Amino acid sequence: MSAALPEPNPHIAAMAAYTPGEQPQGSGWVKLNTNENPYPPSPLALAAIRAVVAAEGAALRLYPSPDASPLREAAAQLHAFPATDILAGNGSDDLLNILIRAYAGPGRPIGMLDPSYSLYPVLAAAQGAAVVKVPIHADFSFDVAAVAKCGAAIFFLTNPNAPLGVSFAPVKVAELARAFPGLLVVDEAYAAFADADCAELPKTHANVVVTRTFSKGHALAGLRAGYALCPPGLATILHRVRDSYNLDRLAQVAAAAALADTGWLRETVGKVRSERVRLTSGLEALGWTVVPSSGNFLLATPASAQRSASPATGEHAYAFFRERKILVRRFPNHPLTASALRITVGTAAEMDAFLAAAQAWSEG
Ligand code: PMP
Repeated sequence: MSAALPEPNPHIAAMAAYTPGEQPQGSGWVKLNTNENPYPPSPLALAAIRAVVAAEGAALRLYPSPDASPLREAAAQLHAFPATDILAGNGSDDLLNILIRAYAGPGRPIGMLDPSYSLYPVLAAAQGAAVVKVPIHADFSFDVAAVAKCGAAIFFLTNPNAPLGVSFAPVKVAELARAFPGLLVVDEAYAAFADADCAELPKTHANVVVTRTFSKGHALAGLRAGYALCPPGLATILHRVRDSYNLDRLAQVAAAAALADTGWLRETVGKVRSERVRLTSGLEALGWTVVPSSGNFLLATPASAQRSASPATGEHAYAFFRERKILVRRFPNHPLTASALRITVGTAAEMDAFLAAAQAWSEG
């Protein structure tokens, strides 16, 4: 008989793991729950992967570039940004984790708007860091002064916000950067679908870092790649705490190729944005309340002649869609989201299916 499993660190024993969105098994689902892109990725990204696995995968025998230089060079070119100030991540979740490892810990809280991305508190808990939440008001604004004095060492501004979908103007983010004394992380996972972004801010604001992912705009969630645009001096610090080869060879070349394919991005994002408009007006016509979205998803509150908006109504609609193999997401733990559904913007056919089911629910 061997010894029992030892206790982990006390702060690890006390924490819970992140709950990812459901990945349903089997076919036939209309999957609108994790904000994936409904279109196939850039053919150039696929060609780059094929080139790596050619010659019986000889290239895979060798370690990849430790700091993902193919991807960093491509991002440097796109943003006219020094490659040395760009850090690549195994998805942007990896970048968020690296940032928290370097800047948060006991006595050094993280800050975030509430509601926003539920992974930040999990990453903070793993470092023994407390979380300070600054509320988003019912009109979707927030108080710059409240963030400025929240006491966090590092603050996460999800822009566009998830799960609400609203975005904050770059001038507002710049104002926040000047007022907040810590490191301001602008998590731009959904920036490809927005009218404006903050990619220029790290060039002029020494405490602003912008994170990007390939999971949403570039349709490469299965690949795991992202990058951070860092102010001078930050990347050197972050390199100390990242995994030594944090991006595999396939991700490095495919993400670099995807970034260079600006035509693909323009076309795909255009389709998502036009379906977003159609979904918004279709749901509003049914009497639903829709939060104005700059992302590839909508937060919408179902209501019908029979049922007024409430968390129970949201739950009822969720179950109705699920029975019809349409999967959306609920966020029951916050008053701004508890009565709503978050719906990923999919293809025209997926949106037709969703709108038909929404009409059946509203009129049922
Ligand atoms: N930030 C936000 C706000 C997100 O919603 C997500 C996706 N769940 C991520 C970051 C992480 O994306 P990834 O790790 O796939 O790059």
